[in-house]
Amino acid sequence: MAEIHLLEQSTIDKIAAGEVVERPASVVKELVENAIDAQATAITVEIKEGGISFIRITDNGCGIPKEEIALAFLRHSTSKIRSVEDLVTVTSLGFRGEALSSIAAVSQVELITKTQEALLGCRYVIEGSEEKSLEEIGAPNGTTFLVRNLFYNTPARQKFLKTPQTEASHISSLMEHLALSHPDISFRFIVNGQTKLSTSGNGNQKEIIYHIYGRDIAANLIEIHQKYENICIDGFLGKPIISRGNRNFETFFINGRYIKSQLISKAIEDAYKNHLMQHQYPFTVLNITVNTELLDVNVHPTKMELRFDNGPEIYKNIQQTVAEGLTHRDFIPEVTLTENEEPLKPSPKLLPKPSPESSVQRKESVPKPPEPFETVRIRELEQKTTAPPKQLKIEESSVYEQHFLEEASKPKHRIIGQVFSTYWLVEFDEKLFIIDQHAAHEKVLFERMMRNFREKEFTSQQISPPMVISLNMREEELLQKFLPEFQRLGYQIESFGGSEYSICAVPANLYQINEKHLFLEMLDDLSEETGLKTSDAILEKVASMSCKAAVKGNQRLSLAEMDHLIGELLECENPYQCPHGRPTIISMTKYELEKKFKRIV
Ligand code: ADP
Ligand code: MG
Repeated sequence: MAEIHLLEQSTIDKIAAGEVVERPASVVKELVENAIDAQATAITVEIKEGGISFIRITDNGCGIPKEEIALAFLRHSTSKIRSVEDLVTVTSLGFRGEALSSIAAVSQVELITKTQEALLGCRYVIEGSEEKSLEEIGAPNGTTFLVRNLFYNTPARQKFLKTPQTEASHISSLMEHLALSHPDISFRFIVNGQTKLSTSGNGNQKEIIYHIYGRDIAANLIEIHQKYENICIDGFLGKPIISRGNRNFETFFINGRYIKSQLISKAIEDAYKNHLMQHQYPFTVLNITVNTELLDVNVHPTKMELRFDNGPEIYKNIQQTVAEGLTHRDFIPEVTLTENEEPLKPSPKLLPKPSPESSVQRKESVPKPPEPFETVRIRELEQKTTAPPKQLKIEESSVYEQHFLEEASKPKHRIIGQVFSTYWLVEFDEKLFIIDQHAAHEKVLFERMMRNFREKEFTSQQISPPMVISLNMREEELLQKFLPEFQRLGYQIESFGGSEYSICAVPANLYQINEKHLFLEMLDDLSEETGLKTSDAILEKVASMSCKAAVKGNQRLSLAEMDHLIGELLECENPYQCPHGRPTIISMTKYELEKKFKRIV
């Protein structure tokens, strides 16, 4: 082996830079976060060639005093913390003092900055960690960073860069998250001379959602505000109708920081579970404020992950808030008949499937409206809706005016009859409602069964011969952990030697579905992370399986029976989806029909 020696500083810097600067988007992230920390109210980001050859970031923040400029570019230099104790209360986005030194190690940086107190600004040039010049020049208050030719001196890393379009799309989605998380700051994002995103900084987050995701999403949001002892949750929940096929639209910010967290994703998805089909994911933008003492943000150099001291509490608060936000909402999807479409196709899922690569192109093909936001939005709403003018407010009142499934509405239902032995037609409030008899029935049974489970003591039913299951290590651990829960429900489970277990008794009301795969599925569903609502998770699984078995196809209901079923739906916690997430009711407006018959154009 070669002799041991200390690496040169420039080599150390380049290696360290690898942790912070992975691609152009990392540079933008760090510099915009610095601008936010510098109290900027307006930030412009301009890139060329996906940010590989050119990134310019301008802010109107506090600026850097001349005598601190060189220092700012040293590794571990920061104005944001003094000691490790400060980490507990840190509220700035940065604090590790690594970004400027890392960026300067692997690119050519030019900085122009001026503090409010200084008469003149400064221009500082540093390339590959090597200082080139520092001079005084005239400049506006604030800071501009120019970062050119990323990885020009580290060809090995340059090779890992993707096409300029892909790199631009990473920056684009980063900018969307930054703009969403800071509605008080006016952002402008320019790609190859073209403005792709521009926000007003007026603090209105819904307006930014509209800007980024478009009308269909903005029109289907539920606003929430909730406060607990250690956590505040504000923001928007997408109605189930705008759910998506992947997690890219589950956005949440912790103390203003965009992060990924399995714990929070799980809390959100669990709350949405009864409203979505399998493999569907919700749209959310949640601003979560957590007491900084319960948070460790110093887990990862890019701070994309963090650790909670009180995971279960955070899970419970978020799950509960989202679940409450979703209950008692009128989620009946409205169908529209268009010329080229199959009739009666529900209108959800209008957006293209998102992918990092597509987001930039998507923006190019959808030019931003030239008028100010409010005007455009209201006009579009007018074109779309039949509601009287008073309902044209930005609020979602128009959607929730009169609920089909409300005790007071029931006398006004006119049940027309059944078609195709499955669907019931009901007229109400200028709309035609179509109920899927089986889905509705299943839902009513499911909720009834869940209620019984919750209220009653559970009894056990012996099975013979016992069911022998063999478990892997993780499953065994889960079984040990949740054994008391299973026993409470009426399961009797004994070790059968090695990794085998015998189930000698099952909950009495589930006698007909004592299947191995059901038990294993339940085990898989239990997450150690949350440790909450375990018995509910088991029950839900069991109940949804058993009512599916109970509802047989194609029975004809009498009108009175249907009326009764609607009455029962009315009592459901969430009558709008069957236990498997399919809609139970859809609706069509009178206006839609009249349009179809060309009574109105
Ligand atoms: P950190 O953000 O972790 O403190 P950085 O290397 O990103 O470390 O920045 C070093 C220091 O440079 C910051 O602490 C801050 O004082 C100063 N700085 C960087 N960017 C700006 C800016 N846009 N405006 C004002 N000061 C800045
Ligand atoms: Mg920083």
